[in-house]
Amino acid sequence: MTFAATILTLYPEMFPGPLGHSIAGRALDEGKWALETLQIRDFATDKHHTVDDTPAGGGAGMVMKADVLAAAIDAALERQPDAPVLAMSPRGAPLTQQRVRELSAGPGVTILCGRFEGFDERIFEARPVEEVSVGDYILSGGEIGALALLDACIRLLPGVMGAASSGDEESFEQGLLEYPHYTRPQEWEGRTIPEVLRSGDHAKIASWRKRQAEAITRSRRPDLWERYSSASDQSPSGAQRDKAKDE
Ligand code: SAH
Repeated sequence: MTFAATILTLYPEMFPGPLGHSIAGRALDEGKWALETLQIRDFATDKHHTVDDTPAGGGAGMVMKADVLAAAIDAALERQPDAPVLAMSPRGAPLTQQRVRELSAGPGVTILCGRFEGFDERIFEARPVEEVSVGDYILSGGEIGALALLDACIRLLPGVMGAASSGDEESFEQGLLEYPHYTRPQEWEGRTIPEVLRSGDHAKIASWRKRQAEAITRSRRPDLWERYSSASDQSPSGAQRDKAKDE
């Protein structure tokens, strides 16, 4: 089954953009995913193809019209009734690797890209739309967020990354940031690769990497660390660890 992405945008020429290259580009050529863009403006019914209007209550900028958005969403739903409809929005739930995994296991996604000040709020009541954010900062439009979301999904599709890298050990997959990587030369500008990585002792290497991943997560992302350590406290090994700490 091909993962099908439908993008609702005022800038269809931005796609596939960077996703036409490298891993995602190859997968697109091979039919492992498919892309269709719908120009939101084509769903405007007035002579000037108006997609936005001034905000009710006043204020700066323009708001994307609910009637036009609904027509575009309905067209996408007709094509792909089973694909979730995601709207790019800084107010949405922050995108996580877990959500990316779920999406990539499904039939595809429809992504609504905002522009201007965003969407008429009523669209979220009237259509099954999930708001998704790519981070706590403001982009000028949803297209770059959509590209990021798609890229994250595509690399997880079967056969896209190759057997060597299932991605299971990557940052976020175990609730931790990834351990540090090194490659040759063994010495560079007076800095050496940690000895353990040259030991050939796989168990020792695995435990070193786990400790590194935990230390990096604890210092850089207290939020992730909190979740990880409370989850492992509930497991038998976590309970033992706590007991050891108390003694
Ligand atoms: N006025 C809005 C921002 C609008 S930015 C607010 O303050 O919340 C214009 C469009 O860019 C948004 O509709 C959305 O589609 C996209 N966008 C901006 N930042 C984003 C983010 N962090 N995540 C996902 N989409 C974003």
